[in-house]
Amino acid sequence: LDPTADNLSNEEFDIERALRPISFDDFTGQEQVLENLKIFVQAANLRGEALDHTLFHGPPGLGKTTLAHILANELGVGIKMTSGPVLDKPGDLAGLLTNLDERDVLFIDEIHRLSPIVEEYLYSAMEDYKIDIMIESGPNARSVQINLNPFTLIGATTRSGLLTAPMRARFGIQSRLQYYSTELLSTIVERSAEILKTPITQDAAIEIAGRSRGTPRICNALLRRVRDFAQIKGNGKIDMEISRFGLKALHVDAHGLDEMDNKILTTIIDKFKGGPVGISTLATAVSESAETIEEVYEPFLIQQGFIMRTPRGREVTELAYKHLGRIKGNVQGG
Ligand code: ATP
Repeated sequence: LDPTADNLSNEEFDIERALRPISFDDFTGQEQVLENLKIFVQAANLRGEALDHTLFHGPPGLGKTTLAHILANELGVGIKMTSGPVLDKPGDLAGLLTNLDERDVLFIDEIHRLSPIVEEYLYSAMEDYKIDIMIESGPNARSVQINLNPFTLIGATTRSGLLTAPMRARFGIQSRLQYYSTELLSTIVERSAEILKTPITQDAAIEIAGRSRGTPRICNALLRRVRDFAQIKGNGKIDMEISRFGLKALHVDAHGLDEMDNKILTTIIDKFKGGPVGISTLATAVSESAETIEEVYEPFLIQQGFIMRTPRGREVTELAYKHLGRIKGNVQGG
């Protein structure tokens, strides 16, 4: 976890760290994924081997980084973190790989954004725990092969479709993380509130959870902001009244849809008569990249039943019209 990431202040960074589950027991949800991981970790520990290389995919904020830390912790090993766009040259990767102790975890976030040469370099490291490095330069330059300690590569990606087939094939364990139900998120809200020493009623936890886009990172962020309202405008306790007040002030709507979610829906309705509309046309209309729409916004809108993907493009559903208080056929704006 990097304090400079996501523009976190030092205090927020400390809170982030305090809220992050550190063991399998602290982690809520993703039951199927967790059940399997527990077995694989137990088996690797029993044999004293490195865990097989593991790939986590799914939308942002569902716990991929958290799970990588948990795996290292449950394996009793160290973890080094990096990300696809940061690893420019094979030399950067070699530096990380040669510093791994036996069974350590190397976590690569946004692994779909590795450059092709770095990716290729990773193959032999993953497969045989061997890499070639260049020594000396000029006419004496030659490549020598060095052995690495057996290690586990954990890759995280929001776009598994962009991963090359050879890369994907090298992960023995692959898990897809799903959006969380309101019930699970309310458990996370209650746990986080306890860590933050803030009393919260059960209905308020459910209210916050229900507006969190199925995402733990969002429920924790909303909880922290509602806690501010409770401290300044209320009596420090989070109840239904203060949560509703805070969530309204934060412009979070009843389904937890944010501004961009709503913009996507209204744009499809107003500019494209409800769709179908192609992803790149839609992207231009809402001034967002097609990649971000596909990776961050669309999966939730589809899961919640607001958008359908058809062969001719994206279409909004009846539910979207209802949610926005619109009537099908009535075009507003232009
Ligand atoms: P990104 O792809 O954007 O990096 P991510 O999937 O790696 O996101 P994390 O950083 O692991 O997500 O999780 C976001 C925050 O949500 C973490 O700070 C963590 O505290 C919290 N969190 C995630 N999953 C859970 C969970 N199952 N239980 C409790 N808290 C969770």
